[in-house]
Amino acid sequence: MIKPEKPSNEALRLDALYRYRILDTDKEKSFEDLVTIAKAVCGTSMAAVTLIDAERQWFKSIQGTEAAELPRAESMCGHAILQPQQVMVIEDARVDERFHDNPIVTGAPHVRFYAGAPLISNEGYPLGTLCVFDPQPHQLDTDQTEALAALSRQVMLVMELRRFAQDIQSHMLEREDYERLLNEYHDLLLAQNADLAEQSRTDVLTGLPNRRAMSVALEASLLDADGQPRQTAVALVDIDHFKQINDLHGHATGDRVLAELGVLLRAHFSGRGMAARYGGEEFVVLMPDTDLRTAELQCDFLRMAVAELPLGFPVTISIGVAAHKAGDNVDQTVSRADAALYQAKRSGRDRVEVA
Ligand code: GH3
Ligand code: MG
Ligand code: MG
Repeated sequence: MIKPEKPSNEALRLDALYRYRILDTDKEKSFEDLVTIAKAVCGTSMAAVTLIDAERQWFKSIQGTEAAELPRAESMCGHAILQPQQVMVIEDARVDERFHDNPIVTGAPHVRFYAGAPLISNEGYPLGTLCVFDPQPHQLDTDQTEALAALSRQVMLVMELRRFAQDIQSHMLEREDYERLLNEYHDLLLAQNADLAEQSRTDVLTGLPNRRAMSVALEASLLDADGQPRQTAVALVDIDHFKQINDLHGHATGDRVLAELGVLLRAHFSGRGMAARYGGEEFVVLMPDTDLRTAELQCDFLRMAVAELPLGFPVTISIGVAAHKAGDNVDQTVSRADAALYQAKRSGRDRVEVA
């Protein structure tokens, strides 16, 4: 027995074969039909669509005998694909030096006649054959040989269509997956954006709005619903000698003081305005519809409440208050409050000064 050689383009040939994803798949009617026709046209009792894998020949369809696969070394089709342009015909395998002692000749199914038309992929690789065979010696006339070759091209066409259908299906699945992922991602981004927006408006340590949120609120509170200027007071609050608190009690305690002051500020001003962390140990308070005198009083209440915080050591604050003047911008009002704060510091701290 002469084993079939492997074609020189074997690796590429196998790649091409695997792209059809057909090996070890179930029987399919289209292939069965073509095998039935091949058998009838050539007048044999057996026929098959067979694909040549690395070390085996695998049958997509086989009729007239039972087999799922055979070793490639024993396959006649392994020889047929070596001459892809022609139909290989063995009229009597018993007198052919390549096959006379082949197990499929000496044993079941006792093949004597064989004709195989190579299945050529669209890139030109021989993947297997459409073959007919019989336990009796036999011949094919030219019409039969041409019909077998034509049918082998139909087998390839079915394989191409099959692959095309598979590709479309997997593209559609991928697309669905992709759309689902995109939707999930979109929801995630929305949630994250909401989080970020919240984070970008809130100071983490005190939970108060931050300076950016305050600027927006300040801008908005200067005019009433009818667009008329509104009486608004602004206060800047600064902890006295806070650096010393940090130095004496540690930064963590300093943080706790800031957080406690945050709680107090919220309690005093939420509902009647807005308190925000302005930066470091400075806070800003917005008091809408409040005249300067009332604002000063409210700030003094805050100052006294801070002085009484049970922190274990004294903490005081200084405050500068300014009334917003029509025609000024927010920055001008804040800097007048800042000037008043500076005045409070210079006058000895733990006090409220008005601009
Ligand atoms: P003054 O009475 O003049 O305001 O004195 P001060 O020490 O409060 O002012 P200064 O500006 O010299 O120091 C402010 C300190 O606040 C310095 C800085 O380390 C501290 N600080 C700023 N932000 C934080 C914070 O988030 N946590 C803590 N623990 N300390 C902070
Ligand atoms: Mg300061
Ligand atoms: Mg300070």
